[in-house]
Amino acid sequence: MIKNISFFLFVLLAFSGYSQNHRSCGTTAAMEHLYNQDPTLKMQMIQNEKNLQSWIKDHPAKNTKEIIVIPVVVHILYRFNSQNISDAQIQSQIDVLNKDYRRLNDDTVNTPAFFRSSAADVQVEFCFAHQDPNGNWTNGVTRTHTTKSSFDISLNDAKFTSKGGKDAWDRNKYLNIWVVPSIVDGPENGILGYAQFPGGPASTDGVVIAYRYFGTMGTVSYPYTKGRTSTHEIGHYLSLYHIWGDDGQSCSGSDKVSDTPNQADENYGCPNYPSPSCNNISDMFMNYMDYTDDACMNMFTNGQKQRMISVLNTSRASLKTSGMCNVVSIEKQSLDQRMRIYPNPSNGEFVIDFNDVKLDGNINLSVFNTMGQLVYQKSYQNISNRERIKLPNSPSGIYMLHINSEKFSIIKKIEVHR
Ligand SMILES: [Zn+2]
Repeated sequence: MIKNISFFLFVLLAFSGYSQNHRSCGTTAAMEHLYNQDPTLKMQMIQNEKNLQSWIKDHPAKNTKEIIVIPVVVHILYRFNSQNISDAQIQSQIDVLNKDYRRLNDDTVNTPAFFRSSAADVQVEFCFAHQDPNGNWTNGVTRTHTTKSSFDISLNDAKFTSKGGKDAWDRNKYLNIWVVPSIVDGPENGILGYAQFPGGPASTDGVVIAYRYFGTMGTVSYPYTKGRTSTHEIGHYLSLYHIWGDDGQSCSGSDKVSDTPNQADENYGCPNYPSPSCNNISDMFMNYMDYTDDACMNMFTNGQKQRMISVLNTSRASLKTSGMCNVVSIEKQSLDQRMRIYPNPSNGEFVIDFNDVKLDGNINLSVFNTMGQLVYQKSYQNISNRERIKLPNSPSGIYMLHINSEKFSIIKKIEVHR
């Protein structure tokens, strides 16, 4: 009977295809590869940790309403069309992040009462970038066809166009997330995702996730269907260590956070509470930085939050002011650069050429004289490429043209010579 069950399990596993039944994160391996490639990096990381700790010391946790918003670009790398996941699936992942990092996830009720006071609203949110590195509008997603079926952690090939991947956007302005067909580390396969800790090289900074573990719909594969692989990897990207301290079953390692219990090893699947080790009451196996199934994770702690907020005020502080999600600035910026008014000076009749900048929504054009009196006004729903304006019997002089939408306002000087 046992033999039969084993055979049944073997068949089940053999035919489960890509299904990965054991969470496997490649971040520790990724960092080891980077240390080998650049021996000075370890010193840099030690210095980073000192800066992080001293910021925490200087900024004791206090109640603040500040929300830090991180601009995200998602680079989809696909060999087959089925791997070119939908915008809706990508959106579902961002939605998960915005719940998990704000403790708005609907499974907070599963946090054991004993740990509830440690659970944190991290006060970090994620938005799609709306401005690409060239200043053009983007929906925050790039799609690149590749001939590769798997990407290797040791090569970081997902992050280089020349290696069949896609070059990173400026890490000071964006969190780069690459979604790939599959992730390997030499002979080891089936890795769900990996991240780069703060302080590593710019060209490889960000997070890589296999497409079967990204988002909550479409191509996701049980038991990684709740988007928690990205929640976990972005935790690393913001300086969180694995909750058991990566010490291989001993009780000596630490995740450098005081409110997570000392824990011997990673947990898999969905343990029953309490599940003690290292003389703790229970492992905090429902923490996003453990290895449990997506449905069994539901919290970061206040200590983990402090580390993440510290990073966003030290080595990753530039993300806070990146402004790359801001649609307003890009429309205004392109308009300012591209629109032309001719002739100017005019006899009171002139053309505003928007030069292919598309403006949606309610747009209001108004012209004021130097006394501030309104001499012309017209409203539009979505503006066309050129608008001809004729001012009614206005005397010669200087006028101000105001272009207003719900999102921006631009003022241009025009002259009338009659
Ligand atoms: Zn990990």
